[in-house]
Amino acid sequence: MSTAIYPGSFDPVTNGHLDIVQRATRIFDEVIITIAVDNYKNTLFSVDERLEMLRCVVGEYSGVKVETFSGLLIHYVRSRGATAIIRGLRAVSDFEYEMQLAMMNKKLAEDVETVFFTTSTEYSFLSSSVIKQVASLGGCVRGLVPQKVELELKRKYTSEG
Ligand code: ADP
Repeated sequence: MSTAIYPGSFDPVTNGHLDIVQRATRIFDEVIITIAVDNYKNTLFSVDERLEMLRCVVGEYSGVKVETFSGLLIHYVRSRGATAIIRGLRAVSDFEYEMQLAMMNKKLAEDVETVFFTTSTEYSFLSSSVIKQVASLGGCVRGLVPQKVELELKRKYTSEG
């Protein structure tokens, strides 16, 4: 059985992420979406909130699991018996960082491949940060994130504001 890990912050998950997950399930038997717990980024949603949103939206996808990980990604990949790391590429601006990450992971584990999915054009401008920016200012993000995430964003910014 082939297992791939899709790591990220998912703060929050967008339709761009979900598009990558769905396409990855056509290639791998199992895709584990993994929230990086030790992320240095300041996040809007807690790990538990992100986990809950992801679990809710991928509930009906077959062959998809959601977990969290801390520590070195490669250790986690091995602990799950996975052979690939999935990442997404939007613009040239993603490339340099993603390439560096992929090369470092290759250095650490030669038998684990990073597989890149190029974004679908309709999501090429989409990032969790731009979603948060728009939602925080009261803009509509419908169609860009799952309905559950749209609601959670509203709740977050209403309770904070
Ligand atoms: P990280 O903090 O690790 O970059 P993200 O949650 O922002 O985590 O993204 C996880 C992965 O998904 C990254 O490889 C990112 O490039 C990719 N990604 C995010 N949004 C999109 C999108 N709209 N289309 C394609 N890939 C995307």
